[in-house]
Amino acid sequence: MPKIIVAIDGYSSCGKSTTAKLVARQLNYPYIDTGAMYRAVTLYFIQNHISLTNPKEIENALSKVHISFRRHPELGRNDTYLNGLNVEDEIRKMYVSEQVSEVSAIAEVRHALVAQQQRMGKTKGIVMDGRDIGTVVFPQAELKIFMTADPHIRAQRRQLELMEKGEIVGLEEIAENLKNRDYIDTHRAESPLRQAEDAIYIDNSLMTLDEQVEMVVRLADEQIGLSLRRNARA
Ligand code: C5P
Repeated sequence: MPKIIVAIDGYSSCGKSTTAKLVARQLNYPYIDTGAMYRAVTLYFIQNHISLTNPKEIENALSKVHISFRRHPELGRNDTYLNGLNVEDEIRKMYVSEQVSEVSAIAEVRHALVAQQQRMGKTKGIVMDGRDIGTVVFPQAELKIFMTADPHIRAQRRQLELMEKGEIVGLEEIAENLKNRDYIDTHRAESPLRQAEDAIYIDNSLMTLDEQVEMVVRLADEQIGLSLRRNARA
């Protein structure tokens, strides 16, 4: 069976990661959460007091950052590791969310992470989600999705997610953080968040998770079928 790249981009907390994870499971592909990679770099920068305006210091710090994903033996989830330490819970906290878009806008950070993401998808058969996957990381991806949802619904979903992890944060604070991140993500000079011309737009405000997953898997199956026919003709 030919393997394809599924690129899912969109705004913060619109359910991209949850959908991408389940789609990957159904396709039996690995899932890469690129937001987690930007969060891990941000955590490292915070912990090591890296100046965001000093390119030398940034380059030097980036050379010391090693990010990997490993399956949690009991929870079955894919956890993010920073230099060998499991940082999955830490990178989701508000203090990281508050800094992450600023760190992600730095060109050196993007170059380093995009190169790593491209290596991860070299042999295809991958589901990756983020902000620039269909536009910059894999502009040749066979399936591109641009996902969004109503801002109020996104804030509620994020609040629930944080609550499940034991962090109680007011809806206003979350909505403000999402708004700020959306603004920085869409206005930065380096690979801003935008819909790729050939991406399929999905507003999931009124969709269930099952419906979203089903829709993306169906679109992926169509692309796999197309690749199969193309290979047969070649
Ligand atoms: O997906 P998540 O909300 O965890 O991503 C956190 C932040 O990482 C985003 O707000 C964005 O600033 C940055 N990001 C990015 N490019 C990606 C993925 C995430 O700039 N491909």
